This record gives sequence, structure tokens and C-alpha cells, in this order.
Amino acid sequence: MLTVTSRHKISAAHRLYAYDGKCEHLHGHNYLIEITLAAEQTDALGMVMDFSTIKECLLAELDKLWDHRTLLYDQDPLCRPLQDILHDTSVCAVPFNPTAENMATFLGSQFFPKLLAAKGFSQRLSIQRITVFETENNSATWHNHDQTSR
Ligand SMILES: [Zn+2]
Repeated sequence: MLTVTSRHKISAAHRLYAYDGKCEHLHGHNYLIEITLAAEQTDALGMVMDFSTIKECLLAELDKLWDHRTLLYDQDPLCRPLQDILHDTSVCAVPFNPTAENMATFLGSQFFPKLLAAKGFSQRLSIQRITVFETENNSATWHNHDQTSR
């Protein structure tokens, strides 16, 4: 198996719902997202996936979803009122408390696999790992335990 890894920065605000501590307050991070793709073999050019294709097909979509947005759990009482006040798409309601662990799980198990399938890459490629760094010292990693040999 071969893997390629790309790192990508996004900025986003969030808060943790039902959390007792300073992370219950709205605040932001410059997140570093690390995506690792795996393939049994390279393509005809000798690549798992062209780094520029990773950027265009996957990371640009991540930018549209979360970059410079406020991520709030859809059960958070702040979510709907803030969406109503702002009248725009800057508040992104997510179906989970926006911890680094849950963000990594969502990206690795749902968001990126759907994009790979939509772009016709899922026959040959899979997401192996997603790491979400909240700070340079703190990160959470989702691992694909569902990887089948292709
Ligand atoms: Zn935080």
C-alpha cells in the first residue's frame, strides 16, 4: 500500500456545547487538517493522487464548508439564533459537538469519502487517516479501520 499526505490550514470559530470550561466560550482556531489517502498501486503517472487534485477536489471543498465559518453543534442553543441574526452561511451547523475528534471523524468517514465517490476516485483510493490539529501541540486523528484491499 502507498499513501500520500497533504496538510491544509483553515480558520474557524467554534465552541463546545455542554462543556464546563473555557472551551464553552465562542473562540477560534487556525486548524491544520492533515489528510492521508491510500492506494494499493499508483496510477499511470506514478501517483496515489496528484497533490494538486487533492487540493482542488478535496481541500477546496473543505474550505467552502468550514473555512472562516463558525462551527456550532446543531443542538447548541446559540446555533439557530446566530444563523438568524447573521442571515448568511457563516454559521455552519454540524450534527456533532465540534471537537477535533468529531471533526476528524466526520471528515474521514463522511465528507471526504463522498467527494472521492462523486469524483470517481473511490474505486482506487480511500481515506486512510485524518488528523485535525487545534493547536500545534493538540490534535485528534481518525483512522480508517474499514479499509479493504483494492
Ligand atoms: Zn476550541
